[in-house]
Amino acid sequence: MTFTTRFAPSPTGPLHLGHAYSALLAHDMAVAEGGTFLLRIEDIDQSRARAEWEAQIYEDLHWLGLRWPKPVMRQSERLHRYRAALKQLTAMGLTYPCRCNRADIEAAAGAPQEGVPQFGPDGRIYPGTCRSRLPSETADRDVIRLNMQKAVRAAGLRSFAETGPEFQGAHALDPDALISGVGDIILVRRNMGSSYHLSVVMDDADQGITHAVRGADLFEATQIHVLLQCLLGLPTPVYHHHHLIRDENGKRLAKRDDARAIAKYRAEGATPQDIREMVGLPLLSG
Ligand code: GLU
Repeated sequence: MTFTTRFAPSPTGPLHLGHAYSALLAHDMAVAEGGTFLLRIEDIDQSRARAEWEAQIYEDLHWLGLRWPKPVMRQSERLHRYRAALKQLTAMGLTYPCRCNRADIEAAAGAPQEGVPQFGPDGRIYPGTCRSRLPSETADRDVIRLNMQKAVRAAGLRSFAETGPEFQGAHALDPDALISGVGDIILVRRNMGSSYHLSVVMDDADQGITHAVRGADLFEATQIHVLLQCLLGLPTPVYHHHHLIRDENGKRLAKRDDARAIAKYRAEGATPQDIREMVGLPLLSG
């Protein structure tokens, strides 16, 4: 299997130094192994994705010296794949429609209890109000959730290998942590036809990603991705979660942090080598 990495930005704002680090690292790792670096446009949330940002992504990455095979995978063109995955999970009896809005969930969750986590990597842990509803009752405005209790029993749980410095080692999936610390995640969001978790798992598998290189902020979500891989019979890549690039106050860079946009540094005369230096990557010779 060819060593294959990817960079998977969402076209919802300018790429900043944090993205540059992630893309360059994934690229360097692939080059070092004689492998392939792929690009994927994570535009599943069409309410936020913009063609201008997508164009800017290609331009910025190109300027940084990155090259990738075409055509580029775009999530907005892959709804049929996400639908097929959902169908598989539904046939296994693991999904249900949910009509709760944020206020309903907060009200049902009640007051925080000592030692019981309120939030997990998919947001507020769902209290289970709609859990007994059937897929056949799905209405237009519903989201689709995964019944986590059933899910952890439905498949043999694997562990995954992590090579990033912060979390290096083998990580076994923990059914209790998934049930109480993650809960019934959303598989299909309203007006989206999928969710980040379902899409990323299908995309990594379909692109043949062997090494998923991404920010440490996604480490906690990895147990969700590996669980979905177990359920859907997909391979689990090696994960490499890298440290996040922070501003001078130690805050991680946000999408709206235009001050550190790659395009801005470029307009000010910086070179791609300067960007490598700023994010602490070795300079390229030649
Ligand atoms: N699209 C995600 C982001 O922009 C990255 C997802 C991933 O690498 O798994 O942060």
